[in-house]
Amino acid sequence: MEKLSAEDRLFVLTGAGVSAESGLPTFRGINGLWRGYPVEDVATPEAFAADPAMVWQFYSERRQRHESVRPNPAHVALGDIERALEDRFFLCTQNVDSLHEQAGSQRVVHMHGRLMQSRCSRTLCRTLPFDDRNLYRTRGEIPNCPKCGALVRPHICWFGEVPFQMELILQQLDGATVLLTVGTSGVVEPAASFVRMARLNRARTIYVGPEEPSNSEYFDEVLLGKAGELLPSFVNVPLG
Ligand code: NAD
Ligand code: ZN
Repeated sequence: MEKLSAEDRLFVLTGAGVSAESGLPTFRGINGLWRGYPVEDVATPEAFAADPAMVWQFYSERRQRHESVRPNPAHVALGDIERALEDRFFLCTQNVDSLHEQAGSQRVVHMHGRLMQSRCSRTLCRTLPFDDRNLYRTRGEIPNCPKCGALVRPHICWFGEVPFQMELILQQLDGATVLLTVGTSGVVEPAASFVRMARLNRARTIYVGPEEPSNSEYFDEVLLGKAGELLPSFVNVPLG
């Protein structure tokens, strides 16, 4: 990658692939199935309304798995780049895990929510999401919102829901001169369109991952390889 100048502003978008080397499988890595169900059928508001315990079992398994995983060299490299660029750096992740934070990232926004947070399931209830590492396996174990009594749900953007903090994300994307996208298949919207928005602003666009993403035609550079192997060398790029 060419060196960044003092005027460059780097916007990084990460997907499930950045956490694959930590042992958190991508949806493709599990063939998109959980107990034989398509993940798209479990991670929806309709599934939660029909069977909240089943949905909580899925997320409880993921919470449990998360306890034993650690950031990999890709997360660490992004933390190092942020320390060098400071407020010229912004990280938008589609991931719900906390591995970027564990690797020291601070300017990070989770557009699809966070596995280790829960919130009230009533859309109009104004209670805030809260940190929650608990596992819920039966209907009786699921807590109720202290304000309105509705069931508590994972703080995750499910299929058919609107991602979080889009205004901040689009504002940061608009100001970026370089877009670095890592480990995302380029099919989940709206993130899949970020590269086109960046191009309209004449930003340089770079993809890192082992396979070409489905939107690869919009990238100036597609660097094929594992994020944990390629990203650490970016840190050595002189930051002008
Ligand atoms: P995806 O499963 O559709 O695609 C994963 C991408 O990662 C693929 O393009 C694959 O080539 C790439 N990849 C695999 N190993 C890699 C590696 N070592 N380095 C770099 N790239 C690698 O994931 P998506 O595009 O992020 O979309 C699926 C949705 O599910 C997103 O919302 C995603 O964040 C979510 N999800 C999150 C997690 C997590 O939080 N860790 C895990 C699974 C899925
Ligand atoms: Zn409530």
